[in-house]
Amino acid sequence: MISSLEEFNTIEQEVPLAPYTTWNIGGSAEYFWEPTKDELSDVLRYCEQNHIPVHFLGRGSNVLISSDGVDGLAICTRSSLQGIELQDDVIHAEAGVSMPVLANFAASYEIAGFEHLICIPGSIGAGIAINAGLAAHGRKEIGDSLIDVTVMNRSGTVFKERAEDLELGFRTSNIPDRDLFVLSARFDGSARGTEGEIASEMHTHLRKRKSKQPLSVPTAGSTFKNPSNGKSAGWLIDQAGLKGYQVGGAKVSEVHANWIENTGTATSDDVLDVINHVKRVVDDEFGIELEIEIRVLE
Ligand SMILES: Cc1cc2nc3c(=O)[nH]c(=O)nc-3n(C[C@H](O)[C@H](O)[C@H](O)COP(=O)(O)OP(=O)(O)OC[C@H]3O[C@@H](n4cnc5c(N)ncnc54)[C@H](O)[C@@H]3O)c2cc1C
Repeated sequence: MISSLEEFNTIEQEVPLAPYTTWNIGGSAEYFWEPTKDELSDVLRYCEQNHIPVHFLGRGSNVLISSDGVDGLAICTRSSLQGIELQDDVIHAEAGVSMPVLANFAASYEIAGFEHLICIPGSIGAGIAINAGLAAHGRKEIGDSLIDVTVMNRSGTVFKERAEDLELGFRTSNIPDRDLFVLSARFDGSARGTEGEIASEMHTHLRKRKSKQPLSVPTAGSTFKNPSNGKSAGWLIDQAGLKGYQVGGAKVSEVHANWIENTGTATSDDVLDVINHVKRVVDDEFGIELEIEIRVLE
C-alpha cells in the first residue's frame, strides 16, 4: 500500500518537461516518473484513489506542455519499458521502444512492413494510441501490422486488446478516450523482404522527409490533422498565406506549413497563439475547421 507519491524514491518533483519534448518547451511536472512494470499498477491505483491527475508521455514528439506545467504525475517512457524481442514471427515490444528502433529491429531480421516507422520519432505506446503513420505515398500506419496490445487502466488492471477492437483510424484509436496506458504490443513479423529492399525503402522515406520537412529545428511534426475533404492541412495553411507567420519564437514553418518551429525562444503560449490564429484564418478563408493532431498536456 502506498501512502504518498513521495514514498517512491524514483518519483521526482517539479521536473521541467521541456527537455522531454521535441519542441523543447513547456513548464514542469508536479511529479515525474519513468515507470517500472512492477510498480506501475500500484502507482496508477494510488493516483486514481487520491484524484491525482496522471499524464502519459512517451518521447514528447507530439505534445505541447502548457507553459504553466502540469499538475499531478507525468509518467514518461523515454528511458523505460524498452524491451523488444522476436518469437515465432511475432515482434513483442514494450511501450517505450521508439518507432525507429522497431523499424531497425524488424529490418535486422529481414521483416518487411515496418520501414515507414523509421521516420516517426515517437514511442510505440503513443504511436499506437494515435495510430501514427505516413499519410503520403499510400497510407501506412503502425496499426497495419499490430496484433494486439497489453494495456493498463487507471485502476491498475492489465488486459489485452486485439487490434481490431481499438477502432484504429487516421491518427486515432479508442485508447486515449478510455484513458488506457499501453504497456506493450505484439506485431505480425511474418512478412519478409530482403535486406536490400528494406534498407532501400527506409532510405527513400528518410530522403523524402529531408527535402520536405524542417528536421533541423525543434518541432512536433504535423500540428493539425488533415481534414477529410481531400486537402491537406499544410496546403490549406500555405494557401491562406500563413507560412512564416510568427508569434514570439513560434513560427509556421516556411518548409512545411503544417509544422510550427520553435525558433529558439518560443513558449507554449506562443505556439497556442499561432495555432489559434491559423485555425481562425483557415476557417475564414475555406470554411474548414482544422483539428489539432498534437496533444496539449496541462
Ligand atoms: C520530426 C517529427 C516527425 C514526425 N513525423 C510523424 C509522422 O510521419 N507520422 C506521425 O503519425 N507522427 C509524426 N510525428 C509525431 C509523433 O512522432 C507521433 O505522433 C508519435 O506517435 C508520438 O510519440 P511520442 O512517444 O513522442 O508521444 P508523446 O508526444 O510523448 O505523446 C503523445 C500522446 O500519446 C500519449 N501517450 C504517450 N505514451 C503513451 C502510452 N504508453 N500509452 C497511452 N498513451 C500514451 C500521450 O499522453 C499523448 O497524448 C512526428 C514528430 C516529429 C517531431
